[in-house]
Amino acid sequence: MVKQTIQIFARVKPTVRKQQQGIYSIDEDEKLTPNLEIILPRDLADGFVNNKRESYKFKFQKIFDQGASQETIFENIAKPVAESVLAGYNGTIFAYGQTGSGKTFTITGGAERYSDRGIIPRTLSYIFEQLQKDSSTIHTTHISYLEIYNECGYDLLDPRHEASSLEDLPKVTILEDPDQNIHLKNLSLHQAATEEEALNLLFLGDTNRMIAETPMNQASTRSHCIFTIHLSSKEPGSATVRHAKLHLVDLAGSERVAKTGVGGQLLTEAKYINLSLHYLEQVIIALSEKHRAHIPYRNSMMTSVLRDSLGGNCMTTMIATLSLEKRNIDESISTCRFAQRVALIKNEAVLNEEIDPRLMIIRLQKEIQELKDELAIFTGEQRTEALSDAELLQLEKLITSFLDDQDPESRLEVGTDMRKIHHCFHHLKKLLNDKKIHGKSTVSCEIKDQDCQEPLKEEEYKKLRDILQQRDNEINILVNMLKKEKKKAQDALHLSSMDRSECRHSQSLPFPPGNPEGLRTLPSSAPKQIQDVSTFGYRSSLLHRKTGMREEMSLGRQEAFEIFKRDHADSVTIEDNKQILKQRFSEAKALGESINETRSKIGRLKEEITQRHMQQVALGVSENIAMPSMPDLLEEKLRSQLEEEKKRYKTMFTHLKALKVEIEHLQLLMDKAKMKLQKEFEAWWTEEATSLQVNSPAVNSLSHVKPFPQTPEFQQETSQPLFNKSNVNARKILPSPSPIPHSQEHNSTSASLESSVPERPASSVPLTGDSQTDSDILAFIKARQSILQKKSAPQLWTGLLFS
Ligand code: ADP
Ligand code: MG
Repeated sequence: MVKQTIQIFARVKPTVRKQQQGIYSIDEDEKLTPNLEIILPRDLADGFVNNKRESYKFKFQKIFDQGASQETIFENIAKPVAESVLAGYNGTIFAYGQTGSGKTFTITGGAERYSDRGIIPRTLSYIFEQLQKDSSTIHTTHISYLEIYNECGYDLLDPRHEASSLEDLPKVTILEDPDQNIHLKNLSLHQAATEEEALNLLFLGDTNRMIAETPMNQASTRSHCIFTIHLSSKEPGSATVRHAKLHLVDLAGSERVAKTGVGGQLLTEAKYINLSLHYLEQVIIALSEKHRAHIPYRNSMMTSVLRDSLGGNCMTTMIATLSLEKRNIDESISTCRFAQRVALIKNEAVLNEEIDPRLMIIRLQKEIQELKDELAIFTGEQRTEALSDAELLQLEKLITSFLDDQDPESRLEVGTDMRKIHHCFHHLKKLLNDKKIHGKSTVSCEIKDQDCQEPLKEEEYKKLRDILQQRDNEINILVNMLKKEKKKAQDALHLSSMDRSECRHSQSLPFPPGNPEGLRTLPSSAPKQIQDVSTFGYRSSLLHRKTGMREEMSLGRQEAFEIFKRDHADSVTIEDNKQILKQRFSEAKALGESINETRSKIGRLKEEITQRHMQQVALGVSENIAMPSMPDLLEEKLRSQLEEEKKRYKTMFTHLKALKVEIEHLQLLMDKAKMKLQKEFEAWWTEEATSLQVNSPAVNSLSHVKPFPQTPEFQQETSQPLFNKSNVNARKILPSPSPIPHSQEHNSTSASLESSVPERPASSVPLTGDSQTDSDILAFIKARQSILQKKSAPQLWTGLLFS
């Protein structure tokens, strides 16, 4: 058992503006726990009437300043947890902080660069690498991905998740067994045999999450996501299975303070936007206070799911993500305060070992056989399962003569064979019973004879009737009781069978026998040949199928989509990644060729060595002399060359493997970005269609056309704010714009996004289904294009569109 308080770390998100410096300082003494000091700017400090403090100090296990790389975060925070999970303990890492402070960046990673990949992909990579190294144990890995939004759980890996809104999905519910273990009903577990399969599941879940999100629910800031890696391991031949779970949790935004503007009162009004975070806080407070008997875990789904992680059997780590800018000071302080409370919680992690009954039976059967064999050696006779008829007859004869023998000294000698001893007892019992029945039957016959002779007296008759009546009543009562019992038993049976079926889906699955049906949704792609990198394109179509996106669209739509794509902020990222991908592909190809060359070189060298060897032997034979004791110099040289080539081969192979992982990751990033683009295009298109219909005749009223989300250059040229939901986070490339808010009359946002199909959105958005309007839009785009061709200046383009 390992007792440990929850480890807390802080990560400060890079700020763009220089003047933000001086707001905080990090005091990192080698020996002491590092301190984060948040200094209140004067103008803000004035706002506190009763509190003149101007700086706040918080202790953390480690503080990662703006420059910390994802690699550093993984090495320092996630790797130790992953190691303890590999050793059989439960682990949890959760990120807590306000929206935009870098929780998703830390847990999942950025959507742009391979080096930006976060804790989940890096941990998967590390775990699979370690498992591969350890061949002495048998491992199985399963993945689940749960989203909790508005106190409801949704399975992000459910195949039905395809392009439907959250509300339409089957809900994941919590079941508690008599031992108070939590089971999650409707949450699917997917086996992942390789890192690649696990990564596919992560991206599938993320894409599902993105698609189900509507501008209304803003699920990404208000929901919690729990990515769980379930590991089972056992030594060959042992019946003990170890289970460990690693939860990687991206919590909802922790913001709660109603901002009242610059210079206004801060830290005054506590306004929870997220109820389950509020409950999480209550649990943390209860846990950090001594002598609290009741911990309100049951209040919310998230605290129930994370019950073990908070004050239970788990090694837990919290990352406080901070966006230390002036306007975020209050939230940052509140995040740090929360972390300080969390740091008081003690957990006790124990090894989760259990005996697998199937394996136990096999082991016991083996033991029995071994004992039997041993016994056979000892007694010198081969034991069959049962005694033969002749042996039985012989025994019965012995018993009869034993019983008949009047000599008190007589003994029944059957030897040490337990089977014979048992049979003797059985036979004796039978004889005794036979005798009893026989005796009784003679007694009852006598009574009957008596009855016939003497008629019953009136009094006796009455007495007997009363007794009969009493017995009747008793029987009735007993029958009723029996019925009730039977019903109870049936109910229990039903319940337990339900439980079992739920457990099958729940998290405590030990090595599932074979491949449970319906569990695996992804085809195992695992390319056998590394050179096979060009086949990854399949994934795109897989995601397309998963998300219900249609690959072909009408001509007008295609044209509009092309323009939308070109002007979209994310297209830069996609293009960048495409270039990198191309480069990696050619690198991989070149490397593959070199590897093949080296391989054939190794083959040639081996051949040469064998030939040389044979030559030497032949020489020895023909000249009739013994093999020269001196080492053959040429052969030595060839051997060292061979070693050299082998080393080279190994290095290149490792490199190629790493390249493969990077290519896969980039491919997935691009798929996700494309999906997002398409989704935003759909939203924009629907919006356009609606507003065109409302303001018909459409083609003439260009002023109603909303702008495309655009690249930064375009944005600078327009003075008008383009999006009403401004993404305040600074990024190298402009943040992806949110879909344009939907107008009043367009009240079926979720419905249209649900389908996410370019074809025809739901019935409440009639226009896109209308061929007239389709051609209107087409005409509109054509008109724009012709103007564009004439005056191809971007200013005009934007001026025309965004007037
Ligand atoms: P949250 O999930 O807390 O709402 P995100 O992880 O989405 O926040 O981060 C908001 C933005 O800031 C994203 O565009 C992300 O790429 C960027 N970001 C966050 N942390 C970092 C960091 N450490 N380095 C670079 N960019 C970051
Ligand atoms: Mg997030």
